[in-house]
Amino acid sequence: MTAKAPITPDILTVPRKEPEGGKINLVGLTRDKMREVLIEHGTPEKQAKMRVGQIWQWIYQWGKRDFADMTNLAKAYRAQLDEHFEIRIPEVVSKQVSTDGTRKYLVRIAGGHEVEVVYIPEEDRGTLCISSQVGCTLTCSFCHTGTQKLVRNLTPGEVIGQVMMARDDLEEWPIPGAPKDETRLLSNIVLMGMGEPLYNFENVRDAMKIAMDPEGIQLSRRRITLSTSGVVPEIARTAQEIGCLLAISFHATTNDVRDVLVPINKRWNIDALLQALADYPKASNSERITFEYVMLKDVNDSDEDAHRLIEHIKRYNIPAKINLIPFNEWPGSPYQRSSNNRIRAFANIIYQAGYASPIRKTRGDDIMAACGQLKSATERARKSRKQIEAEAGLKS
Ligand code: SF4
Repeated sequence: MTAKAPITPDILTVPRKEPEGGKINLVGLTRDKMREVLIEHGTPEKQAKMRVGQIWQWIYQWGKRDFADMTNLAKAYRAQLDEHFEIRIPEVVSKQVSTDGTRKYLVRIAGGHEVEVVYIPEEDRGTLCISSQVGCTLTCSFCHTGTQKLVRNLTPGEVIGQVMMARDDLEEWPIPGAPKDETRLLSNIVLMGMGEPLYNFENVRDAMKIAMDPEGIQLSRRRITLSTSGVVPEIARTAQEIGCLLAISFHATTNDVRDVLVPINKRWNIDALLQALADYPKASNSERITFEYVMLKDVNDSDEDAHRLIEHIKRYNIPAKINLIPFNEWPGSPYQRSSNNRIRAFANIIYQAGYASPIRKTRGDDIMAACGQLKSATERARKSRKQIEAEAGLKS
């Protein structure tokens, strides 16, 4: 079991800082794109491929942010790089650490927008849940992020930058030349934070390529899970172009209920989704598709629902496991969490049918771990601070 951090939730606020103008950020560029910008700014064409490899390793393997540290490059070349480029990742606005070790970050990206990142330590792994959009176009009725309208897609640099930020905070960058440490604190990535990753496909793909690159963050594709609400046309592409594991926000067993909980169902209904999953080229018994199922009291948690869920999966012969998620209530949420007994009974029906049905441990309850909550709470706190300041101004 991971040691419990004896830290109470704390909010650390850093001053607002806009990105420096003029320089090109190298973080998130594909190798081809990086080669192109290096050549444009004076790197001889013949050397460019080798330079990309060297810079790439310094950035993603060793976590360096300063060209001066790239000691296998000539001093004059380092200065030249510094003149045109920067290595910039999202800035941490606040960090909260739960008594169970869960860390929740609010990070600021270009334009002053903010997204959430959550690190969940477990016995045998450490999972980072990252965001792909600011807000979301979809309006899943159980999801707090769904109440925040879409502002914009994250760039590849902002997506992979969340992973780099977490490695900074976990102090997990290896030291060049030191023996390889196989026990990674950050061993898995889930694209399950704010936004629908398949509505930002290219940027998410380019970022995950860096995460999987043997000279990059070096995570196996089996340690990356992309969670979608069911953007059917992009599902096969996920296997072909990213090759990671897939999770589906399933949450309901009839179209009537799923239309309300996950409204994208009105566009691609349960059968269309199941067919796309049955066709997912990567699905196998060793790489099962995760069905996420949030347990909502009296909405989707009956025995009939459990039986229907099994029927769906069997009918399409999908290698699956079902993750049951006790609902994380947020202020004003229209649903309640199912009782523990109900969740256990539901899990048991699925298990008896031959499918794994783990119940997700609720993590970070004390730090508002429901996605989208920290952002709203911080915005509220800012507002009230502004109100206080305004009142003070009126009195003086
Ligand atoms: S569950 Fe995902 S897709 Fe649905 S509103 Fe929330 S962030 Fe968007």
